[in-house]
Amino acid sequence: MVTQKWLDLPFRVNYTWFPQMEKFEVIVVGAGPAGSILAKDCAQAGLDTLILEKRPRVGIPVLCAEGIDTQGLEDHFPPRPSWIASRIEGGRLYGPNGEAAEVKHPRAGYILERAIFDRDLAALATRAGATIWVGAEALGMDVGEKGVEVRVKRAGREMRVKGQVVVGADGIGSKVGRWGGLRTRLAPGDLVSCCQYLLAYKKISSEFVEFHIGNLLAPGGYAWVFSKGDGLANVGLAISSAKSQKGPKHFLDLFVQRIFPGAEVLGITWGAVSTSKPLSPSFARRLLVVGDAARLTDPLSGAGIANALRSGAWAAETIKEAFDRGDFSANSLRGYEKKWKKGIGRELYFRYRAKEVFLKLTDKELNEVTGIAKEMFAGRSVKSIEVKKIVKGIVRSSPRLLRLAKHLISI
Ligand SMILES: Cc1cc2nc3c(=O)[nH]c(=O)nc-3n(C[C@H](O)[C@H](O)[C@H](O)COP(=O)(O)OP(=O)(O)OC[C@H]3O[C@@H](n4cnc5c(N)ncnc54)[C@H](O)[C@@H]3O)c2cc1C
Repeated sequence: MVTQKWLDLPFRVNYTWFPQMEKFEVIVVGAGPAGSILAKDCAQAGLDTLILEKRPRVGIPVLCAEGIDTQGLEDHFPPRPSWIASRIEGGRLYGPNGEAAEVKHPRAGYILERAIFDRDLAALATRAGATIWVGAEALGMDVGEKGVEVRVKRAGREMRVKGQVVVGADGIGSKVGRWGGLRTRLAPGDLVSCCQYLLAYKKISSEFVEFHIGNLLAPGGYAWVFSKGDGLANVGLAISSAKSQKGPKHFLDLFVQRIFPGAEVLGITWGAVSTSKPLSPSFARRLLVVGDAARLTDPLSGAGIANALRSGAWAAETIKEAFDRGDFSANSLRGYEKKWKKGIGRELYFRYRAKEVFLKLTDKELNEVTGIAKEMFAGRSVKSIEVKKIVKGIVRSSPRLLRLAKHLISI
């Protein structure tokens, strides 16, 4: 016990030998694709950038089916062979009756090796000059006139890090936005819970991604089969918690028994995906949120890697501009939201409304959707897959769907 006598020292204790509070210019919470690309771009612009990552290793465990469209990746990076598990040359949509619509696109996309991809993006950020701390969890933050302080737990010790701007790149369970005063509450109907197996099976079609829909098969969601080649595939299923008492594993097991009898499960992953509208505002004084933290996933498919990369890059541009002005007010950071709204906003709001229609469809109507899509493509090869055009085409072909969708989608 420390006694009063001990404290009554005849000299002043010099605290300067205690570690100083670390200072950076940009603090990025989360080393997913959004955080890493942002940190890379900020560091390349000469900003002193820190990434905080709570996991002990970047990219592990993988909570993703790993699919990305060609443009979504190649707009940012030339793909490295080690990032690519397989190439996608088209997709198949299976209705509840098992009938499939097939569309071919020779350069549709890739199935990534996310563990390697995420690790390499973080390495690119450090090569550009960013600092990364793994096993470092952000616990809270205080935004002040002169800067922002983030409380961090690192190696069992709590400490504070100082910066000018904080970026919430902390994924679907993001807290950073809430700490900065953003309204981040998510309605239960705007979230799907997922379960995915890494499956080993003798024959899995490797060039086509598969989507299976049906209210009994996956209430409020769908099942997917994304082949990684060599008889391996990410086979998963998402359901809306608002539509089922049972969890996604129950439905996934039924699906796997039916489609891949006798397959071996090499890994299991659980996760959640936002199917909500994007978070707006996605900025505040000294704060931006990007990627899943800003709910920039596609509400219809749940895909979020490409938008995580896009939003990370847009946020970095805005941060550079704010440093040039020396102004980190909400108004100065507003440009970020303008950029994502211009780039992907209209499409995301459209897909949100399309998802709302999808949730209302009976199995009979879902069969109709697949039937129309089948006729539309009839195994054709297309040059680009424009979801908006496809959805509008399907809805226009059915008087019943048209009635249902009219007030939600401007057809
Ligand atoms: C089952 C499943 C399948 C999916 N399949 C696909 C798919 O095929 N294609 C696709 O495009 N998208 C898919 N997604 C979505 C995709 O994984 C995300 O959209 C993408 O990872 C978003 O990237 P991000 O950088 O925003 O966040 P994340 O990749 O989630 O990264 C956030 C990081 O922040 C860290 N973090 C969180 N809190 C803190 C904290 N307090 N302190 C420090 N670090 C913190 C986390 O550990 C994590 O590393 C899937 C999601 C799930 C759950």
